[in-house]
Amino acid sequence: MITYEEALSRMLAAAPRMPAEAVALAEADGRILAQDVVADMDMPPFDKSAMDGYACRRADLGLGELTVIEDIAAGAWPARTVVSGTCARIFTGAPLPLGADCVLMQEQSERRGDRIRIHNPDTADNICRRAEDIRTGDRVLACGERLTPAHIAVLASVGVARPLVARRPRVAILATGNELVPVDVTPGPAGIHNSNSPQLAAQTRAMGVCVTDRGIVGDDTATLTAAIHDALSDHDVLLLSGGVSTGDYDLVPGILRQLGFAFAFESVAMQPGRPTVFAQKDAHFCCGLPGNPVSTFVVFELLVKPFLFQMMGHTVEPRIATGRLTRPVRRRATDRQAAFPVRFTAPGDVEPMTYHGSAHINALTRADGIITLPIGKGCFEAGEHVHVRCF
Ligand code: AMP
Ligand code: MG
Repeated sequence: MITYEEALSRMLAAAPRMPAEAVALAEADGRILAQDVVADMDMPPFDKSAMDGYACRRADLGLGELTVIEDIAAGAWPARTVVSGTCARIFTGAPLPLGADCVLMQEQSERRGDRIRIHNPDTADNICRRAEDIRTGDRVLACGERLTPAHIAVLASVGVARPLVARRPRVAILATGNELVPVDVTPGPAGIHNSNSPQLAAQTRAMGVCVTDRGIVGDDTATLTAAIHDALSDHDVLLLSGGVSTGDYDLVPGILRQLGFAFAFESVAMQPGRPTVFAQKDAHFCCGLPGNPVSTFVVFELLVKPFLFQMMGHTVEPRIATGRLTRPVRRRATDRQAAFPVRFTAPGDVEPMTYHGSAHINALTRADGIITLPIGKGCFEAGEHVHVRCF
């Protein structure tokens, strides 16, 4: 058994780097940037008005009245220079005319024909200066960043129509277990629905990665061997659920060994998640996750997700919030780190969910994240400050 930190670092070290591909900006949301983006233009590209009003000279604001010499709409280039006693009607986003050094808000003036009267002028200049947001040559985005809508806007503003992003790993999911039936089939007396495959598919897709669901395979060496072999023929990573423990029907580790996989680990000091398996053959990877649904969920979150992101060149930085526990959390054995689902009830208050263990998947539906008791620590007391790893 190795620690969670050791398991994570072995997975990250093993992650192969996906090649880059260019995609249309409209397809880039959620992808991982595979290039640095350097601005080849200033933003804004010219001094522009931040207000609807009148471009004028600050020294003239005391004159009381000014003559309007032209109208400058956004998208139009000014034709005239503002000289003493004059101003230009200007709109938000329009270039500032020569001679002007401030924009009087229209609310602070009154128009009469081609003249304006000035009321209590604002002291702000109401100008967005050329290059104040982005300067030519600035690195505006870095390789490895995950593209959010704000990143998309930055790419568009500096004219990147086809950013280079990391190719997504091809991920397949296979559920193992004689007891499992698909969601649209009524289980027999000893059967249950396969919930892990749809859950893993949803977790993977939420990362922006495509998945293939390869269905359910019973606990039978020949069919399971064939299914694992087939799934890996056209996928980079296979997520297996169930069959990784040490029972008579837990066939996955033996089959992977038979297929020539090398194991990075077969047991991790985490609860839930101890029998997690990570194995590699050439450029193919198998993550064997324990079948209990909370185990599958947590192991994906803590190990598989950072691994898949690492393949795309992105480092996961989990969102950690702190708060005070409203109730104690206790456990007996302390040889593994243990995760407990929690939720925020009020700002700074962290409530442990009623949690019966790793089969209790509905405890997660209202959870905001997990807290982790480290190895050797048996409880968190009520009122104790805890770090919540948010989902
Ligand atoms: P295993 O890891 O195969 O020993 O399974 C541990 C527990 O998780 C058993 O109670 C299984 O019935 C359950 N389980 C295994 N696979 C799934 C699945 N795909 N969906 C829901 N529960 C599962
Ligand atoms: Mg099983």
